[in-house]
This record gives sequence, structure tokens and C-alpha cells, in this order.
Amino acid sequence: MQLEELFVSPHQDLDGHISSLIQAFHEMDDSLLPYDRSDFTHRLADSAMPDGHMALADYLRRLQQLLPGISHLASPRYMGHMTAPLPAYTGELSRLLAMLNQNPMKMESSRLLSFLERESLARLHRLVFGQEQSFYDAFMHAKDAALGVMTSGGTIANVTALWLARNRACGDNLFALAEQGWRGIAILGSRLMHYSFDKGMDLLGAGAASVRRLPVNEHNRLCLSALETELAHCQEQKIKVIALIGVAGTTDFGSIDPLPEMAAIARREGVHFHVDAAWGGPTAFSARYRPLLSGMEQADTVTLDGHKQLLVPLGTGMLLCREPSLMMAVKREAPYAIRASSFDQGRFTLEGTRPANALYLDAAFHLIGEQGYARLIEENYDRARLMANLIEADPAFELMAAPVMNLLAYRCIPPHLQGKPLDASANIQINAFNIALQKRQRAEGHSFVSRTQRAVTRYGEQPLTLLRAVQLNPGIRREHIEALLDEQKHLGLVIAQELFPALS
Ligand SMILES: *Cc1c(COP(=O)(O)O)cnc(C)c1O
Repeated sequence: MQLEELFVSPHQDLDGHISSLIQAFHEMDDSLLPYDRSDFTHRLADSAMPDGHMALADYLRRLQQLLPGISHLASPRYMGHMTAPLPAYTGELSRLLAMLNQNPMKMESSRLLSFLERESLARLHRLVFGQEQSFYDAFMHAKDAALGVMTSGGTIANVTALWLARNRACGDNLFALAEQGWRGIAILGSRLMHYSFDKGMDLLGAGAASVRRLPVNEHNRLCLSALETELAHCQEQKIKVIALIGVAGTTDFGSIDPLPEMAAIARREGVHFHVDAAWGGPTAFSARYRPLLSGMEQADTVTLDGHKQLLVPLGTGMLLCREPSLMMAVKREAPYAIRASSFDQGRFTLEGTRPANALYLDAAFHLIGEQGYARLIEENYDRARLMANLIEADPAFELMAAPVMNLLAYRCIPPHLQGKPLDASANIQINAFNIALQKRQRAEGHSFVSRTQRAVTRYGEQPLTLLRAVQLNPGIRREHIEALLDEQKHLGLVIAQELFPALS
């Protein structure tokens, strides 16, 4: 193909080929090409730069060969990932977005799409904070105001929140802090806080000890008395607390911290209150489940992940700010691009050039809408309860945390320990059993749940291996859940024989 031809469209029947690749991909699962590191290494081991003479048809064949080896996250028997199956219109929309190639860092390189981004952020702000119409009329498109920023995901949103909190608490000059007698900064939250907070505090130069991970109660919610004790402790040690972090949907359990009480404590202490609702935020769409998030509307900042429960492609996160002027604490300019007097979102975003992913949100808001999201979310939460009931009714399983939203933690019990009281040494065996089981299930590729390691109050501080199921795919039916649990029971018998031959 001539180089020039690559830039003229359309290529003959490329659309049709790509559509059939997508369809073929969705009909596979990982069992077609099980993960094998040395095999995968061999398949992609050419370090020479291609000369660029490959025909498009040959390149399509290369893509086709890659597909079986990619993760088939949208399979209804895969219930361990936080990645949503995407509505079918997304493919065509992403083609449009890629070819528009807009850069909303700057108003002049995205024009009306910058305003669309602000409008989408305002819609989510209204969902989370529920301000009056007049508030949105005044601030949605105001120059020195931002109801939020788009990010590439929850991690960057959380890091941005810490950046903001630090600048609010002590400006960007840590020496000034030392002159006032402070010996350091810290953030306080539960031990189930996402690890992006460790990355953020590391970047702020505050080190690992600045992330104070506090105990949780039997429902995996931050323990308020531990929070009060730690606040007093920080005061004594002359450590300035820059933020309290509430999690609305922990990554492990989907549990929600006591947000109203945390908001009150943050107000009393004059400390920034951030809520990490990367997973749980969209619960606000459901009138039935919205009360779970009570207190979130009192946060200073809230993280949302579009690529989780909002069902848009990866790379779509947001940080929302209750007060439109808050973002001024991190305002930065560059003489060649982002001028102080400009309307550019790049004044506030940690990222520079970035895609205009707000278009995916805009499409989802119009095509799925408030009621569509409410229904999908309620059905997912119902499916999580169904799965929890199936688990509780079967002695081969132990439910480790009743689902609050659509995440559930459980484990498989090997036959010789079923129905027995479980002590620390039994738990060590069960841990090994669940690790082997989850790996075997993943390797076979027919169904999938993920794995985590956490203490659960019922067994004290002992770290336990837990299986973690995510009910996010609207295509999951009761028979998929039953098939997944049956496969685990079947694999469990085989693995018990291997691990505990004398007992089974
Ligand atoms: C997923 C998640 C994050 C991180 O989001 P990424 O999009 O993976 O960067 C942060 N916090 C919570 C609670 C999450 O579930």
C-alpha cells in the first residue's frame, strides 16, 4: 500500500472486517488460548521495526491471531473484573472520537467539546451533590470555576484530590509547613483504601507512613473511634492531616465508610474530605440504593470511574469538586499553551493532552439515562444477592461479606473441612486451597473470579485468601452463576486430592 493511501478513507470493507473481528472475539473465551507465559513470549518476540510494506489484509490477519490470547472480559462467566461490557454503539462512537482527535486540554483544540465536557461534569456533579439549578447556571461554564476534571481513571482522580488537599492545607511550600512547627503531613482512611493513595502521597514527597490505614469494623467500614484516636495522635506528633478519605465502595468488598460521621469530623477539624466513589458512585442513580451513599454530598471532592459502573470505555475517570473555586488551588499555566486568563481545562488537570472521553459519557447519559442506569445497577445488586444466597446454601462455600452493592467475597472450603469449626491452621489450608483453585479456574479459562487477601473480623487478624465476584455484566444469568460455582466445586475436588491426599 502507498503511504498516501493510508490517509484516505475509506479502506475497502475495513469496517466489515473489524465488525467480524469484534463478533468473533465476543464468541470466544480464554480457554481457546490458555495463558502460558513462554508461549505468549514466543508469539511476540520480534524486536525489528517493520518496513511498513504490510498489506492491510495481512495486518487484519495479524489482529485475528491476537484475539484468542486477549482477555475475554465481557464473557458472562467472567465475574471477577471491574471492567464493564460496553454497549454495542461504543465501537462506532469510538471510531468517530478517534478520527475527530480532539484535545480538551485546551479550548482551541477542542472548542465545543470543552463545553460538552463541562456539561457532562455538571450532570454528574448534580447527581452527586444535588445543587440548585441556579448553581449550575452560574458555575457550569464560569471561567475561574470547575465542577470537576476529567482524568484517565480513578487513580489520577485520587492523586489530583491529594494534590488539591495538600495545596489547600499548606500551599505548595512544605518548608513553610516546617517553619510552623509541623513535622509532616498525613491522610487518614480505612485500611481498605485503594493503593492509588499511596502513589499520590509518595508523589507529594510524604512517604509511605503518611498514609494512615485504620481498622475497619465487621462490616468493613472505617472504625470511627480509631479515626478519633489517630487524629489525636497526629496532633501530638505535629503531623498535619491534609485529608480524610472515605471509600464509597471498597475494591475488595464494596463496603461504604460512615460518610456522614466522617464529613462531620472533617468539618470540625477543618480538613479536606475526599470520597473515593470510583466503584460505588453510580449507585446514586438508583432511588432504592442511593441512601447507601448518604454523606457523599458533603465531600469536598469525589472520585468517579466512568469505565466501571458507568459502562464507558477504559480511560474515563473524574474528580468532582463540591465548591467550584476549589480547583484554583492547583491552577498551573504554560505560556505557549495554557494561559492564565484562558478557559482551558488544562489549567487544572494533572494530565496534559488527553482524549475527549466526555463524549462517551454524553452518549451514555442520552442513550442509557438515569432510569437505564438505575435498572442496570439494581439488577446487578440483585444478582449479587442471588449469588450470595447460592453460596450460603452450600457447605462447599463460605460467604465472607454479605454484598452491600455488587461485589461479594467468599471462599471455597475443601471437603474435609466442610461443616467443621475453622481455626487458624484450617485457614492456612483453606488459603492454599483457594489460591490453587482460582489459578486453575483462570488457567482453564471457562469462568473467572478474582482473588484478594484480607483479614475478616470473624477470624481476627489472620490474612485470608478470598475469592471476589463482581456482578457488573447485564448478560449474567442465574445459570452462569450456577455454572461458575459448579466448576469451582468440581475443580475443588481435584485440587483437594492434590493438596491433601491423606484427607480426601
Ligand atoms: C478502581 C478503583 C480505583 C482506581 O481506579 P483506576 O481507574 O483503576 O485508576 C480507585 N479506588 C477505588 C475504590 C476503585 O475501585
